[in-house]
Formats: sequence, C-alpha cells, structure tokens
Amino acid sequence: MKVLTPEQSMMTCVRCGACRGVCPTLNITGREADGPRGRVAMARSLLTGEISVNQEIKDQMDRCLLCSACVDACPMDVQIPDIVMLAKERIAAATETVEQPKEKPINNKENTIKIDTTQNDIKKTPAPTRSAKDFLFDKVLADQKNLNRVGNLLWMYQKSGLQKVTRGLGIMKLFPEQMRQMERILPEVLPPSKRKAHAAYTSRENTNKESKGRVAFFQGCIMDVVFRETNDNSIKLLSKAGFDVVTPQDQKCCGALHHHSGKKDKTIELAKANIEAFEKADVDYIITNAGGCGAALVDYTDFFRDDPVWLERAKAFSSKIRDISEIIYEKGELPEASGRGERVTYQPSCHLQYVMKVKDAPAKLVKAVTNSEYVDLPDKKYCCGSAGIYNMLQPELANEILDKKMEKVKQTESAVLITANPGCYLQMKLGVYKEGMENVIDTKHVVDYLVESIERAENQTN
Ligand code: SF4
Ligand code: SF4
Repeated sequence: MKVLTPEQSMMTCVRCGACRGVCPTLNITGREADGPRGRVAMARSLLTGEISVNQEIKDQMDRCLLCSACVDACPMDVQIPDIVMLAKERIAAATETVEQPKEKPINNKENTIKIDTTQNDIKKTPAPTRSAKDFLFDKVLADQKNLNRVGNLLWMYQKSGLQKVTRGLGIMKLFPEQMRQMERILPEVLPPSKRKAHAAYTSRENTNKESKGRVAFFQGCIMDVVFRETNDNSIKLLSKAGFDVVTPQDQKCCGALHHHSGKKDKTIELAKANIEAFEKADVDYIITNAGGCGAALVDYTDFFRDDPVWLERAKAFSSKIRDISEIIYEKGELPEASGRGERVTYQPSCHLQYVMKVKDAPAKLVKAVTNSEYVDLPDKKYCCGSAGIYNMLQPELANEILDKKMEKVKQTESAVLITANPGCYLQMKLGVYKEGMENVIDTKHVVDYLVESIERAENQTN
C-alpha cells in the first residue's frame, strides 16, 4: 500500500525535474504543462483552492496517460497518476460528468479540500453519452455474461459476412476514424463453443515432477472474450511450466477502467468480489497476463484505507499478484522452445514495468527461444499510447505517440513484435496496420509466442 495519500504526496514534489525525461506527452508536445511536474503543480493549485476548475486544467489532466513512468523516475516517489486521478475526480464531481458528487473519493480519508464549483467553463458531457458510458461500465464490463453476449455478436459480425458487407458498402465511414481503425485490427473472436468457462482446475503437465506451486489464474473481462486464445494459452503455459492452476469461476473484472473513470462504488464492489473469489481458491499466487489488470489488482489496498477488515484482506490478496512472465521466469521451468529464424522485439506494458515492476522477465523468456534473434526496442521506456481507452479519448496525442513508437519498431527490423497487455497489443497492431506493414510484422502476446514456439519444438522432436 502506498504510504501517503495523493493529497499528501503532491506536497512532496521538490520540482527537481527528474521525471521529465520519461513522460510521453511531454516528449511529444515539449510543454511543461504536459509533463509530470506541470501536472502536479496544476493539481496542487486546484486541490488547495488556489485556482478554480476550468477547461484548461481538465484537458491537462485528461491528457495524462497514467502510465506511471514518472513515478518510477521520481526520487521522492510522488504518486503523479493518483494525484491526477484525484484532480479528475474533483473536476468530474464539480461538473456532473460522473454520477456521484456525494461519495468519498477512493484514495482519501476525507474530502477536506473545497473547490469552487460554482463557476467554470467546462463543457459538460451530454446526458446520452453519460448513459452509454454508465451502461458499458456497469452492465457490460462488470458482468461477464453480458460481455460474453457482446462477444457472440462480435463473432457473428465477423463470421456471418456482415463485416465484409459493412466494409464493402463503406458503412464504417460513418464512424470516427479511431473506431474504424480498431474495427480493422480487432482479433477474430472465437465462437461461443470455444469460449465456455475455463476448467476450474488444470494440473501441471508433467505430474512426474514436483509442482512449482498452486496458482490461480485471473482471466480478466475483455481479455476472456476478445483474447480468449491468449487466456487458454496462459493456462497451458503455466501447466507446461510446472504449475497447478485453479481458475475461480466467480471472479470479476479487475475494475481498472471503472477506477480511471471515477466509478468508485463499482470499483470497490468488483474489488471485494475478487478478493472473496480468490480467497476461496487458497493458492500461493494469483497470475495475470495483462499488465493493466495486474497493476489494478496490486493497488486494491489503496481502496480500503479506512476499512481495517477489508484492508487486511486486500493486502493478502495484492501480495499474491504476479505477472505470468515473472512467475514462470522466477519459479517455473519451460520446455524447449524454437522459433522460425525470426527477429523479435518487445514493447513493455507501462503498468507491468512501472507499477508491477516487472522489467525484464518477458524479454528474458523470449530470448530463451532458440532459432530466433531478440533485438531490444529503442526508447521502450515510453508508453505506446494505448493506456486503457486513452487512444479513444485522446486520439490525436495517442496517434502522435504511436507514430513515434513505430519509428523505433521499424528501426529494429523485427518480424515479430511482442507485447504483454491486450491494450498494448491492439495499439501496436494499429501502428503496424497504419504503417502498411501487416505482412511484415506480426504482433503477438508473449504468452502466444511462447506456446507456439514450445509446440514447434515439440513437433520437431516427434
Ligand atoms: S521527479 Fe518527482 S519530485 Fe522531481 S519534479 Fe518530478 S514529481 Fe516532482
Ligand atoms: S503518468 Fe505518464 S503521461 Fe502522466 S505525467 Fe506521468 S509520465 Fe507523463
């Protein structure tokens, strides 16, 4: 759990500027206001009542990717994303863009600071947009059955020929460019028959060997529908690495998107449901294959600062969270894996490298694949611009960040681009598509790459 609340943390910034060199938005615009130090200063002025809510300050906070690169670089451990989140909560409450002005913020004890909300120039979110957003967060992401129904529709759209017709008739032109591009690069959704519930228990593949540990698999929400094959491969990879895997059937979405959107009640409801579900599993570790989910699960303790009972349970839960690459690299034992003679590079997930502090494990596993060449991606410290739904909300800046990232990817001359988070996967796939390099660069989740390489090696020996 973080020691200081965001309100305390923002007071510890000494304006040294050590965070400036890692901030993707500052790197693009060069404006101090688009960097961590500028954001902390602005949030502090807002939250201490020196300035009132206005559109400029809202834009500045909204343009932050919440990537945490700045926290990693900060000698004072200033929690910039939490400070930005707190400022966003207060701005949202002041301008009716979220549903609960009466609620206490997640991250602090008391709503002690009063903001003048009577006068501001903020453009209000239209009611239909708010309702659609509420529906998406409360009824779809938070309810796996409904999300699966959406998955079924998506599968029908992709398989029935409707996708071809829609594209052929140019109907997609009616949608914003960002959505059009996403529709192009979305993976093929598996049919409902292949998206049934995971087995509650999968034993290690080689039962003649001692178990490397009993772990629980966190399946995620969108991950389990759109990236179902990667989830299946994750359980398979853990089993091949010597782990016994439990998949709790009553687990829920991690709540990261709800948290970032200021939906406090729902975030806490989901956190409690997950803590309960994984307590029952009685495991050594809880494994995620999505950096964004893992970072949210690690931070559950911050939601229960004022609730000693749930705080203890959240601490026990969060202390067990591990990324799949990390646990396999540190405690597992993978069989031989073989590539196709390809050159491979890796774009880290910010939440994985800066919040979960998993910096090298995915690359080390990839480097162990024989008959392939690993090349380090220059400037991999910078976010790819995905950041949850940032690329939908801030398309211009996200595109500029992505273009810069793709320059670096092209320099590596790699045939395979590895990621460790679904958001990064989609963003990098989008980058490859925009560059017209879909036949040159294959984007893959690290888990899928490893399983394919292991199965290739198995086929070669049989
Ligand atoms: S590195 Fe930390 S202390 Fe220094 S300016 Fe940035 S946020 Fe402030
Ligand atoms: S979280 Fe990322 S985008 Fe936001 S200020 Fe820090 S480095 Fe910049």
